[in-house]
Amino acid sequence: MYCGVVYPVTELTVDHVQPRVRGGDHSDGNLVTCCRACNAAKGGEAAWSFLSRNPQMRANFLKYATGVWPRLRRAVIEAAQD
Ligand SMILES: [Zn+2]
Repeated sequence: MYCGVVYPVTELTVDHVQPRVRGGDHSDGNLVTCCRACNAAKGGEAAWSFLSRNPQMRANFLKYATGVWPRLRRAVIEAAQD
């Protein structure tokens, strides 16, 4: 979801767009798959914060993460405008 590289399903991890430590839940709209390297790089950071420093990853996210809750997509778009 972040780097855009296509991996076998077994190589993917589940990432919380809004981290659990920041109030995110396990609902479908808060979960995306990403590779281990991206998940480790993002760590416990919110996706909108992480993506504001990574324009190409942000573009990938907005292109592919169509099932994410609209408010989370908005947060990603708005954080990049700050
Ligand atoms: Zn990745």
